[in-house]
Amino acid sequence: ADQQTWTSVDKYFDTALIGPDPVIAEVERAGEKAGLPAISVSKAQGKLLYLLIRGARAQRILEVGTLGGHSAVWMARAIQPPGRIVTFELDPRHAEVARAAVDQAGVGDLVDIRVGPAAEGLAALADEQPEPFDFVFIDADKASNATYLDYAVRLGRPGTVIVVDNVVRDGRVLEGADEGSEGVRRLVDMLADRTDVEAVAVQTVGERGYDGFLLAVVSDSVA
Ligand code: SAM
Repeated sequence: ADQQTWTSVDKYFDTALIGPDPVIAEVERAGEKAGLPAISVSKAQGKLLYLLIRGARAQRILEVGTLGGHSAVWMARAIQPPGRIVTFELDPRHAEVARAAVDQAGVGDLVDIRVGPAAEGLAALADEQPEPFDFVFIDADKASNATYLDYAVRLGRPGTVIVVDNVVRDGRVLEGADEGSEGVRRLVDMLADRTDVEAVAVQTVGERGYDGFLLAVVSDSVA
């Protein structure tokens, strides 16, 4: 099968299992109009995040990499008040588009967008000693994946679910010399050595090409 087939299969399942979603369509349109790169989650991946949050009854969500708010809207729709999302975005222009998108989607009150380098933002957040996060989505600069996962564990609790996007990178994860692939390999090496978190990576194909995500859960033994 090729890219055209993967895209058609995504469309088939999306039509049957998601259906028309004017809110998400508007978020995508706004991102395009603002000239944001087309690197958000797909509709299917957005719904996967939504369902994982629903299934875990997660309330406190952390996201690294907001872009135009596509994944943030999916995740915000999954939580019940008093749940909230804290999401980090480096680029003020992206954050502005995301702010408008979450407000227009009617979930603005649930989304706290923090602008700046996520590593600094996460350090500041850790200093606030917040209630533990139940669900974490890591989807920013892939070079910093290991740092972000470390914060996700520290800011989580036993059972916290962590999803890291784009870990396969069209197969480049094996030997790619790009920063992103190296960042994924550093993350995997770190996870192989850690006992406080269990993880698996799943390869995917779809409208976003050949890629995959890593799923991790903070172990029960974490104090
Ligand atoms: N999660 C978004 C979605 O699915 O709608 C897509 C996020 S996009 C793949 C990655 C985002 O991470 C970009 O908007 C980029 O500006 C942001 N980013 C890159 N480096 C960052 C950093 N050091 N701190 C915070 N955000 C960063």
